[in-house]
Amino acid sequence: MKIAFFNTKSYDRQSFNTANKQHQHEIIFFECHLSHETVSLAAGYSAVCIFINDYLDAEMLEKLAQGGTKLIALRSAGFNHVDLAAASHLGLAIVRVPAYSPYAVAEHAVALILSLNRKVHRAYNRVREGNFSIEGLLGFDLHGATVGVIGTGRIGAIFAQIMRGFGCKLIGYDAYQNSACLEMGMTYVQITELFAQSDIISLHCPLTPDSHHLVNAEAIAQMKTGTMLINTSRGGLIDTQAAIDGLKSGAIGYLGIDVYEQEADLFFEDLSNEVIQDDTFQRLLTFPNVIVTGHQAFFTSHALANIAETTLANITEFEQNGSCLNEVKIEQAIASK
Ligand code: NAD
Repeated sequence: MKIAFFNTKSYDRQSFNTANKQHQHEIIFFECHLSHETVSLAAGYSAVCIFINDYLDAEMLEKLAQGGTKLIALRSAGFNHVDLAAASHLGLAIVRVPAYSPYAVAEHAVALILSLNRKVHRAYNRVREGNFSIEGLLGFDLHGATVGVIGTGRIGAIFAQIMRGFGCKLIGYDAYQNSACLEMGMTYVQITELFAQSDIISLHCPLTPDSHHLVNAEAIAQMKTGTMLINTSRGGLIDTQAAIDGLKSGAIGYLGIDVYEQEADLFFEDLSNEVIQDDTFQRLLTFPNVIVTGHQAFFTSHALANIAETTLANITEFEQNGSCLNEVKIEQAIASK
């Protein structure tokens, strides 16, 4: 199939070229995002492949369909960046990579917890400057801490298992109880109880209209003073201004985020020579007890290879059968909301 890849970096091109040796699709890589300005580049390509920060609205989908595109292959699990109703109306199929390396994301959540708790980010800078004082670097034992997992699917369950290994007490909130989590001793509770009982809260649910700003001022008010909040899922799960207020009051004791509500204007680009205009984001960076990473939780060599292999296999399956097991159906998307 002729595939136009948008928003590609060197690591994407490398992993897809390797995986394509087996699939032999005709691929063109563009570095630019797929946007209103660049959508004409896709004309004549029966498939386009995009990442999480390429937003496809109805107008762009219409232009893609007019240009002969039949398939949109997402190099991601999430599909909240595509207008699914418009795609379905235009007869455009959407395929995704439901799971590429749940270990990568779960392990990154744990990296944020360990760094925040033992203040590795601050210790690293101090020691490099010849400051060996340990004042202000006091941590706590994870053993015995209560960890609240919101969303106990693939990533949440692996995260829970790792935290179980540290000797943490596990509580979870999800409409569906995961038998693997029950077996490792997780107790499912109401979300208000999870907010009230957890020392550490980690978000592993998708962003939907229901979960938008799941952590808002009201939720933060229910938390223990000094709770650690970790978000490796989607930025929109947290009301950032409420989190800043929580950090200022001490209600939130530690914040570790790999995702941010307005990340589309920032993440994945080198802006080190520019003045960042997002004051809310800049405020977050001023707190000593906040660590922000730029949506890198998925970024392991294993995950990149899985993403490339599954994406190209999805496209091959669609080309051969006119359908694909990893297709995102509009009904399924509505059901998950
Ligand atoms: P999954 O579908 O296996 O699990 C998600 C779980 O969340 C399900 O059990 C579902 O029932 C539950 N859920 C849905 N709505 C909920 C709500 N409002 N409250 C509580 N639970 C709810 O998905 P997964 O593979 O574990 O991925 C989880 C999330 O991780 C994805 O939605 C994605 O946003 C995020 N993710 C982030 C990265 C990254 O690099 N930072 C990479 C991959 C995935």
